[in-house]
Amino acid sequence: MVWPGLWPYNPPVMQFISTRGQAPQTSFSDVLLAGLAPDGGLYLPQSWPQFSKSEIAAFKGQRYQDVAFTILSKFTSGSFSDAELREAIEAAYADFDAPEIAPLVDIGNGQYLLELFHGPTLAFKDIALQILGQLFSRALAKRGGRATIVAATSGDTGSAAIAALGGLPNINVFVMHPKGRVSDVQRRQMTTTAHANVHNIALEGSFDDAQGIVKSLFSDTAFANDISLTAVNSINFARIAAQCVYYITATAALGRPATFVVPTGNFGDIFAGEAASRMGLDVARLVIATNANDIMARALNDGVYAAGNSHATLSPSMDIQVASNFERALFQAAGRDADWTAAAMNDFSRSRKLELPPGVLSDLRSRYSAFACDDAQTRAAIAAVHKETGRIIDPHTAVGVAAARKLAPLNQLRAPSPVVVLSTAHPAKFPDAVAQAIGTPPSEPKRLAGMKNLPEKLKILGNDAALIKQFISSRLAG
Ligand SMILES: *Cc1c(COP(=O)(O)O)cnc(C)c1O
Repeated sequence: MVWPGLWPYNPPVMQFISTRGQAPQTSFSDVLLAGLAPDGGLYLPQSWPQFSKSEIAAFKGQRYQDVAFTILSKFTSGSFSDAELREAIEAAYADFDAPEIAPLVDIGNGQYLLELFHGPTLAFKDIALQILGQLFSRALAKRGGRATIVAATSGDTGSAAIAALGGLPNINVFVMHPKGRVSDVQRRQMTTTAHANVHNIALEGSFDDAQGIVKSLFSDTAFANDISLTAVNSINFARIAAQCVYYITATAALGRPATFVVPTGNFGDIFAGEAASRMGLDVARLVIATNANDIMARALNDGVYAAGNSHATLSPSMDIQVASNFERALFQAAGRDADWTAAAMNDFSRSRKLELPPGVLSDLRSRYSAFACDDAQTRAAIAAVHKETGRIIDPHTAVGVAAARKLAPLNQLRAPSPVVVLSTAHPAKFPDAVAQAIGTPPSEPKRLAGMKNLPEKLKILGNDAALIKQFISSRLAG
């Protein structure tokens, strides 16, 4: 509502708060440039912007970029002008190879694939990181100074961050992947970059070790301030904001609420679905699909969030035990009780285990279901979709399809809703897994051609935060 007497009307400036309640409220650009809140918590908007059913229905048929502008402008107001945001969004999606950006494909039986892999590195991470890169360089130019990005990657964040931030002025990007735990294509996408501001580390450890090292770099405040450390992992709220958009465009296109099945690792992508629903989107259900790294399935089904050992699977981008973004869902499920969230996360970091209180658990279960599947079920899902539709899906999408098939009978019992599986990567990123399932690898898209002949640049380092710090300091000095 706009009061006629108040022209020119300034939209309200969105403020952000930390899930742990000990950080000052701040603006979108500070959230973007900081990543993690200074109290160790994750940022969320102080209140969720709201869209009415009719506003959402009216998104049907609009350009993806225009819907993205309408949604993101609610978060960025006060930090970026409308013109800056529009320019950033257009630039972010200029290099996508599908005009719809996130096409929805009917695969029969009320099931759909929401294809999120049409960006430069062929995984859904591009959808958010391309915007983040555009906004980041604009925000940094206004603030001045340099930024050092350290990203832990289970495979796809690294290449998407490099594609978004490689070559930008005043930014250095350090990307740490677990050595030998990413696919060859994923590794080459990171290590063959020509940009001098990109530094690849192969860590002798798991993804969780890499994520733990990033957290410990942040907790060394002197070091973090000295290098202007920032994070572009899905703990950065700008990524969640950008990922809400496709839940909304998919629902608008279907014209009715959907059940979304989301291949899940760090819980960022599926939390964007919760965010969209808190903004007014009608969502039938959010289904967490995990591989053998099933911490989220156990948390929902058994009520205990407990880290286990990390397993190498056919879907390496989900080989994650500690799902960082779950903290956001816990904070919301606890009625935004920051003291409880801070205590719970401290308990978890000490004992690697958190018993979910009944109120929190029932709130989570009212929104989420969870299914885990193993590599054999992943291969079977790739083979089944290929046989039924002729389409080749990647192993992460296949984990989603396998979960959707476990859900199908339940969905029939409840009011049936369309089931949308988020298709998070192009199959050509995982040719070995695909070949195991259907006998032949997928054909290679243009974007990957030629990569095999380029030299790789990476540094192998031990699983030790002090070694990583030394390496970062010496690269920044050199
Ligand atoms: C990152 C990734 C996921 C998991 O997404 P989260 O936001 O970490 O839960 C799933 N599939 C692919 C292909 C990915 O790259």
